[in-house]
Amino acid sequence: MTDQHQTSREPIGTTTSNRRLVIAIDGPSGSGKSSTARGVAERLGLAFLDTGAMYRAITWLALQEGLDLDDQAAVADLLAHASMDIDQDPRCPAIAINGVDVSEAIRAPEVSAAVSAIATNLNIRADLVARQKKLIAEAVDGIVAEGRDITTVVAPEADVRVLLVADPAARVARRHAELAEHQMDVDAVTDQVIRRDRDDSLVAEFESAAPGVHVVDSTFLSLEEVIETICAFVPVQGLGDRRDRRG
Ligand code: C5P
Repeated sequence: MTDQHQTSREPIGTTTSNRRLVIAIDGPSGSGKSSTARGVAERLGLAFLDTGAMYRAITWLALQEGLDLDDQAAVADLLAHASMDIDQDPRCPAIAINGVDVSEAIRAPEVSAAVSAIATNLNIRADLVARQKKLIAEAVDGIVAEGRDITTVVAPEADVRVLLVADPAARVARRHAELAEHQMDVDAVTDQVIRRDRDDSLVAEFESAAPGVHVVDSTFLSLEEVIETICAFVPVQGLGDRRDRRG
């Protein structure tokens, strides 16, 4: 099995006559990038790629296998032999690793607490970046990809590049609400947001915008307003008949 856009559902875009549109969104945790990227993809009829889910999936597998996460060669080898199947439909994104659907399991606090150790492994990054570039290149009608290094490393040539930011307090509050079912205390959530970003920023630049990257501050904006702001950055010739799909 290889990385692929599963074909069990309706294809996402309806036309191949439009120019392919690639939208890259980076940001720290709790900035709202996943919901935003899904919303933009749905509005414009594009595929959706959550690259954080790929880092989480290999983290889940390494924990499952009982590997020492600091053994960088062992974890990289595990990934090198692992298949990932990614459903890029923004209405119901999903990810499987070695045939196991881990879409829910990768959101567990244990995975969130461990993922930075995996994401700072440069061999893991090289492998996942190569898979992500391939997925983006294969997205027939275009794609919205989100993560930490999409605007700078994975798709620096994207048609629209956005750095989504928000005040730390707003990010912690959002994550706390999202994680309500896990009944985590505020300290644990703060660790997930602030400590994880600090660790992640050692290997990916997502705290300041590269040249040509639009900065959108979501602190005081609704999800709809953020989606609208990003859709407005899309060059008119890139929209083609996608304009019809904008709500
Ligand atoms: O976005 P999300 O919180 O799901 O990402 C999980 C983790 O994956 C991040 O904390 C970071 O360590 C890693 N990541 C990354 N590069 C990306 C996307 C995510 O290093 N492009």
